[in-house]
Amino acid sequence: MKVKCVICDKIESIDHNSPIAKKLRNRPIHTYMCQSCHDRISERTNERIQSGQFHFRKPENKEKDW
Ligand SMILES: [Zn+2]
Repeated sequence: MKVKCVICDKIESIDHNSPIAKKLRNRPIHTYMCQSCHDRISERTNERIQSGQFHFRKPENKEKDW
């Protein structure tokens, strides 16, 4: 099965029976990321978390604090 990376447009072929192939077939929007793009993005995300610029939004229940 041929898949195209959404980031760099690289075409890769993956095993038709692999879990990722099944996932892509079940989804109307086919989003596939190649391994190198996937690694790059997770690296960046980790860097952001470590540098403290990445904020997780917490739902604030101010009313309950009264
Ligand atoms: Zn890619």
